[in-house]
Amino acid sequence: MAEGSDEIQALIAQMARLPGLGPRSARRIVLSLIRRRTGQMAQLAAQMARVAETSRECSRCGNIGEAAICPICADPARANGELCVVADVADLWALERGRAFRGRYHVLGGTLSALDEIGPDELGIPRLVSRIAEEGVTEVILALNATVEGQTTAHYIAEALEPAQVTVTGLAQGVPIGGELDYLDDGTIVAALRARRRL
Ligand code: ZN
Repeated sequence: MAEGSDEIQALIAQMARLPGLGPRSARRIVLSLIRRRTGQMAQLAAQMARVAETSRECSRCGNIGEAAICPICADPARANGELCVVADVADLWALERGRAFRGRYHVLGGTLSALDEIGPDELGIPRLVSRIAEEGVTEVILALNATVEGQTTAHYIAEALEPAQVTVTGLAQGVPIGGELDYLDDGTIVAALRARRRL
């Protein structure tokens, strides 16, 4: 057996499918864990089981945590009229780390893609439109990627929001956003947010 056992090979194969990992790093991680199987590996397995059990999406914004309504949506001080639309929860977390935005969020969970058959309903865009009136939103900030999909999604949302008579802005151009905010330093995120422009 080249890689220990069928079970170990299956674990490596599973691990290799994780974002940012491939077969090589998966093999190294699994080997390292097996060497620490009674300590680190057992703890990690228990922690993963707990998080799988307790984590859920906020029913309003799509943030991930443990509550049905996340702390941001539950905080009345965050209802300042600003709603920031992001593609991914990782972007929301990155903006929160930057501490520059004090409004609320709407997580799309992706961008429009004809190829992958992701339409407005899959991204919760109707839900976004209904939140505008429900929560007294005055400005929607589209923090989406500068890719074709990101910009197509931004235009679609801007059009869908037209009847709502809300100000629609986008982050400063040239800043990589959309699953990538995560890699920016806090200063860049703050600058992109401050330099947002009307769409
Ligand atoms: Zn929420």
